[in-house]
Amino acid sequence: QGTLVVNVRAAVLGDEYILLLADDRTELTRTEQIRNDFVANVSHELKTPVGAISLLAEALEASPDDEEAVRRFAARMHKEASRLAALVQDIIELSRLQGADVVHRGRAVDINDVVADAVDRSRLVAEAKNIEVRVGGRIDVPVFGDPDLLTNAFRNLIDNAIRYSPENTKVGIGLRHKDGLVSVSVTDQGEGMTPEDQERVFERFYRVDAARSRQTGGTGLGLSIVKHVVENHGGEVTLWSQPGKGSTFTVRLPDMEQDPEDHRAAPRSP
Ligand code: ADP
Repeated sequence: QGTLVVNVRAAVLGDEYILLLADDRTELTRTEQIRNDFVANVSHELKTPVGAISLLAEALEASPDDEEAVRRFAARMHKEASRLAALVQDIIELSRLQGADVVHRGRAVDINDVVADAVDRSRLVAEAKNIEVRVGGRIDVPVFGDPDLLTNAFRNLIDNAIRYSPENTKVGIGLRHKDGLVSVSVTDQGEGMTPEDQERVFERFYRVDAARSRQTGGTGLGLSIVKHVVENHGGEVTLWSQPGKGSTFTVRLPDMEQDPEDHRAAPRSP
């Protein structure tokens, strides 16, 4: 960080001149570094459940007659396999998003419907913790985008709000439309985060408490998926949080009336 990386080439021109060519490689090196870190993280994250499943299978083979042990090992294998499946799915989603051109797949999306759909999909987790999820407000204009990606992004935020909150609390979702921007905020009464953690939570695989995240089925990729989806839609996601008080994640997207040229230029796929 803070280092300029340059590639310098020199050529001698005649007796008096030397031609120096310098390429700024800083950005490229940073990108390479991020990619290498990602590959290292992915390998590590995949190896953990795979290793656990092999060990559990060995243990199963070693004690086929102990019914209680068989049941316990099988349940743990199931849990590790689900984790593996969630990880693979998030990794695929993230790599798909990196090259995704939302504008080409987009259409007019009713954010009220997308949010209602996301709330519905989180219902079981919410009920298990007796957390009430309440939606307030309505948005009267569509946004241009991909409804599946947006549903997935809001679902990640709502799932997190539920997972990182104690039982019997509330999650509030506020919908607003102002100055050409549609905003959806997800507020919880959960554990909150320190300013240092807030700066890093959108990074891939960053977790405040890795053991806790894994235990609740987290992959550490949810918020980076949210960030990618929102930015691919020309929007931004911001976070307010205070340890012990709770967090609010706010997604802002341009409404359909913004940038009409962009939308018109894009071929609408069915
Ligand atoms: P994970 O799969 O671990 O939840 P995310 O990318 O969704 O991964 O979130 C990254 C980390 O941010 C989580 O591990 C958790 O520590 C923290 N976090 C996310 N949402 C919340 C929230 N609503 N309240 C408190 N902490 C949160």
